[in-house]
Amino acid sequence: MCADLAPGTCGKACPATLSAREHAECLIAFRFAGDAEALELARSLYAKTGVLPGVDTTRSQGTYAGTRVPTRPALPLGDHRQHLAWLIASFDRYDAVFTRLAARAPRPIDFRLHPDAFVFFSTETRAFPSAWGQGGVVGYNLEGPLHTNERDVLETVFHELFHLNDERRGGWSASALGELFEGIVHRCGSDHECFGDFAPHDTRVPDGTYYPFDERTRDVREYAAELALRYFREHEAILEGAPLEPPFKCVSEDNRVAWERLVEDFFGGLDLARDCALGPT
Ligand SMILES: [Zn+2]
Repeated sequence: MCADLAPGTCGKACPATLSAREHAECLIAFRFAGDAEALELARSLYAKTGVLPGVDTTRSQGTYAGTRVPTRPALPLGDHRQHLAWLIASFDRYDAVFTRLAARAPRPIDFRLHPDAFVFFSTETRAFPSAWGQGGVVGYNLEGPLHTNERDVLETVFHELFHLNDERRGGWSASALGELFEGIVHRCGSDHECFGDFAPHDTRVPDGTYYPFDERTRDVREYAAELALRYFREHEAILEGAPLEPPFKCVSEDNRVAWERLVEDFFGGLDLARDCALGPT
């Protein structure tokens, strides 16, 4: 929370003799002191998730599609405080959906819904990456193109949470989906539209194809994160009584295999999407 300040600054404001909780609360009060509304939101986010809103000083994550993007540490203050409200709403939503899924799952769901830490940064102009997820931490760009409304924040952060879970499970995506992913890439080649049947989500690279498959961003970890987001979106829609059609698993055999592996390994074997043979009801 203090990585962008001179050493000792936070130590003076919040002595290490405080208990862990008091210390965390003191740091939040110190960093958000200039903005009462943001302070209230930062406190709520911490109370809800146990996660501190900190600053990203790594400067090493600002790479998108092979291009280095300069980033600087920043906190969601002033005009940016809205991001805290969107994050709180997102975590509320994940919890509500997963509480209902857990009650129906045949086995425990093995998916952590909170990161160990949040770090905020900003880019000079509206620029990718919008966010990153690594080493238990979610990095969040206050100028991220995907961070302009509550729904897009919810979807982006869920994608990043999957990266953390994937990592925690020793790089699940490469071992479980690597071969399948390479097969799709090989079959579609440079035909951008061909990837449409295999893309779990509609995110596309400008002037390119779907994000997990584009030459500049191609990565099985991205395919897996988009697949997990698709699982969330389909199940949220089913719980609301308005399923997405067609279910992802019904579009191709590759989709079915990938979906089943994800369902088994992360979501307790719970698949509420309709049977493909039956068609929409
Ligand atoms: Zn990603």
